[in-house]
Amino acid sequence: MILLDANELPFDLPAGLKEEIINELRSISWNRYPDIYSDKLRMALGRYVNMGYGRIVAGNGSDELISLILKALLEYGDKAMTIEPTFSMYSFYAMQCGVEVVAFPLEEDFKLDIYRLKKAIRKERPKLLILCNPNNPTGQGIGLEELKELASDFEGYLLLDEAYYEFYGVTGLELLRDYDNVIILRTLSKAFGLAGLRIGYMVASKEIVDRILAVKSPYNVNSLTQEVAVKVLEHMEAVQDRIGLIKSERERLYMRLCEIAGLKVYPSCANFLLVKALQIDGIKEELAKQAIKTRYFDHPTLKDCIRISIGSKEENDRVIGVLGGQR
Ligand code: PMP
Repeated sequence: MILLDANELPFDLPAGLKEEIINELRSISWNRYPDIYSDKLRMALGRYVNMGYGRIVAGNGSDELISLILKALLEYGDKAMTIEPTFSMYSFYAMQCGVEVVAFPLEEDFKLDIYRLKKAIRKERPKLLILCNPNNPTGQGIGLEELKELASDFEGYLLLDEAYYEFYGVTGLELLRDYDNVIILRTLSKAFGLAGLRIGYMVASKEIVDRILAVKSPYNVNSLTQEVAVKVLEHMEAVQDRIGLIKSERERLYMRLCEIAGLKVYPSCANFLLVKALQIDGIKEELAKQAIKTRYFDHPTLKDCIRISIGSKEENDRVIGVLGGQR
């Protein structure tokens, strides 16, 4: 089975590094609860993002943090605004909290019109605006100037989900200097290749951090995960190598798929490509036959689209073979 449906990294940690980390895990006492605040991990993350650890919360995946942000900062009946289409878990968790989701539609080709968005914000006055940057599943990124423009007169909470940041390189972190309503959400599930261990983190003002800590389950990140994440953050060279590989494969796959008639390939700042196909049914059938899993969506604007995570070179060649054979 070739797994290209969940935007994971196609590689596990280099074998030597994984072995070294497993050896170090032996010293952890399994009979003891984990550190409630994940302090060692928050310090390591703080060094990575160049912020004090008191501005960080670690979560059991960034999914947990999305849920906690809604629970801690919004009340039943409040409004949250998202772009559409975007990552589905925002509305999943919003619904559980009785938060109304106002979806702001992207333009043709999934472009974001900032001025129209600002107009919609003035009209709807959401308490929370969630921007996935780069956006899953469309792959488009919002630039720093546009983020500044949006933050400059927004009074609600601005959540920037930067799950795919490492494949893009643009971050809203510097907005935290001027705006204490901004929250940056990240994960180690994508570029760090640790999806199975469940580690996400958010960076925000001390006040927001305290409100999230007040509602989170005490032992939300287990001891083994905390330790592995700290170790991997000490080996950024291994992480960077793999990011480089994925970015160059993304460009190669993009170019190769663009050459195939009947496909429209959207440029991507993340580790996946969104592809619209005239012969979507034939492609789905052939991918299934060859045991290649990709992602399909119910949303009407994504009809005829597949989202393909960037895999290893061999996996991407298999995708090129299937999509090229379906003209
Ligand atoms: N945000 C976005 C935009 C995602 O695509 C994902 C995973 N697909 C997540 C958050 C959640 O990631 P995790 O819970 O693994 O940190």
